[in-house]
Amino acid sequence: MKTGNISVQSENIFPIIKKFLYSDQEIFLRELVSNAVDATSKLKTLASKGEFKGDLGDTTIQIAIDKDAKTLTISDRGIGMTEEEVIKYLNQMAFSSATEFVEKYKDAEAIIGHFGLGFYSAFMVSDQVDVVSKSYRVEDDSAVKWSCDGEPNYTLEDTSRAHRGTDIILHISDDASEYLEENRIEELLKKYCRFLPVSIQFGTKENIEYEGEGEDRKEIKTEVANVINDTDPIWKKKPSDLSDDDYREFYQKLYPFSQPPLFWIHMNIDFPFNLTGILYFPKLTNQLELQKNKIQLYSNQVYVTDDVSAIVPEFLTLLHGVIDSPDIPLNVSRSYLQSDNNVKKITSHITKKVADKLKSINKKDRKEFEDKWDEIAVFVKYGMLSDEKFDEKLRPITLLKNVKDEYYTITEYRDKIKALQTDKHDRTIFIYAQDKETQSTYVAAAEDMGYDVLLTDMVIDNHFMQHLETKEDKVTFVRVDSDTTDNLVQKDEDKESVLTEKEQEKIKGLFENKLESVKDKLQFKALSPDALPVQITKPEFMRRFSEMQRMQGMGEMGGMDMEMYNVVINTNHPLIADKLIKMRSDDKKSEFIQYLFDIARLNQGMLKGGDMNAFVKRSLTFVS
Ligand code: ADP
Repeated sequence: MKTGNISVQSENIFPIIKKFLYSDQEIFLRELVSNAVDATSKLKTLASKGEFKGDLGDTTIQIAIDKDAKTLTISDRGIGMTEEEVIKYLNQMAFSSATEFVEKYKDAEAIIGHFGLGFYSAFMVSDQVDVVSKSYRVEDDSAVKWSCDGEPNYTLEDTSRAHRGTDIILHISDDASEYLEENRIEELLKKYCRFLPVSIQFGTKENIEYEGEGEDRKEIKTEVANVINDTDPIWKKKPSDLSDDDYREFYQKLYPFSQPPLFWIHMNIDFPFNLTGILYFPKLTNQLELQKNKIQLYSNQVYVTDDVSAIVPEFLTLLHGVIDSPDIPLNVSRSYLQSDNNVKKITSHITKKVADKLKSINKKDRKEFEDKWDEIAVFVKYGMLSDEKFDEKLRPITLLKNVKDEYYTITEYRDKIKALQTDKHDRTIFIYAQDKETQSTYVAAAEDMGYDVLLTDMVIDNHFMQHLETKEDKVTFVRVDSDTTDNLVQKDEDKESVLTEKEQEKIKGLFENKLESVKDKLQFKALSPDALPVQITKPEFMRRFSEMQRMQGMGEMGGMDMEMYNVVINTNHPLIADKLIKMRSDDKKSEFIQYLFDIARLNQGMLKGGDMNAFVKRSLTFVS
């Protein structure tokens, strides 16, 4: 037996490794299985070049737990190592690169992937690590055993191994005993190794099959290999070899119990960087899926993370799927990653691909695009708000939806409404409702005037409308109840008053007397006799201001929302210009004014509780 001291530095890195990355301790398994995969791939490469002529045999990587011995073993049938190679690779190379890694990152927070610690990450969870290895070049069954107990001392002795390859035997330390639990290991293998290119087996599992029919039906249980991974995931295949069902099936595999995706993009790039992957547009039915079903980042089929915020723009994190790129530097901090040139290229490439996909669907089948619009609108609008280039590409095909569920591009819509909805300043007025039900009276009134009303009922629409107002030439959005209907699109013409000035004064006095509490909100206007007699309007700019405050979590300051309306009296309406003015008793007049005001409040959903009861009673007097 030989012994030695691998530490060439004065500082011992083992205690640091043990503490290091404590929260991400579990990655040791990924590192060790990746090494086993690399060793197997190297042998296969040698075989394909004719440099290895022997029998490859079953190259499945085996993972095993021995609870009594408190060990976790990773065995491969890859190229293996000779004694010299063990000294060179584990004592020198692996050790010095681990030392370098620890030195560099021990103070850094949030390092993507934590690749680079490699073999020595085994010491995060082990008191002792044994490596038994036999090189593919060795003909007999002699092998070498390296052992290190976490002190910088190691031993090296001769042993034997039936096949070529390597066993990494971890003597799990007491404070890491979770790694001796089957469930935990299975979970980690499924997480990190699910798509590795070499078969990985973790013990066996029970397989149940049925034979026979009816009463003769028998259950046949067999023990079969518990193979963890799919060695040939579809993102590595050619799109032309795949069917829509293949893509949908893969989606189900990634996110079981989710709704099928709307569509997907298969990325396959060689130059100037290497990237493969599939991005799915999900059916976003609930918030939960956003948090749960994230894009997974892989590097050569090794799972790295599901936090891709440094690689794709935030709005694209709404998508699902996988990205696999060996060109994304992984052992670096998040901020470094964002400034990395390759990553920048990758980010803009993905953004472009997504925009192109949407454009091509629109071009190929406008109907399909409309059908899917409601489900992708949040995503598209969010993207346009946050990314200038995305906005430029998508604005020409972005759809506006009106209350009749018709869809128009912005240009189509402008053409449709410009004759009636251009105001005296030559601005096109986009009239919108945020709630079809509660704003229905206003919508009907606008439609009576020949106006079209958009439906903007998504949370993001407030921002989106403002965005279009700044990006599009001469467009203004006004909510359908922001003014009296014939004032929504302000024209130059003044309506003539049916009443004399004296009569108008009288009406004004009556209303001011009765509606004392809203005196400062009363506006008297000679509108069309067809417009409502009394209307409550919520001026656009004030409402937007208070909505913005609400969005920023400032609440409604001192009941601001209630203050924010006007009561517009149409002095040309027959109920006012004729009926009211002719009433004889003052009591009756004031009852009638209250009645008209209540109708207006009813339209705005402002009539509640006792007021509603009083209104119903009052109606009985007037509806006859
Ligand atoms: P990396 O894998 O990044 O090179 P590691 O520290 O994980 O760094 O490993 C160092 C070296 O040890 C590897 O490059 C490889 O040559 C050798 N090695 C590690 N694990 C195995 C294995 N299972 N079979 C053969 N060689 C291995």
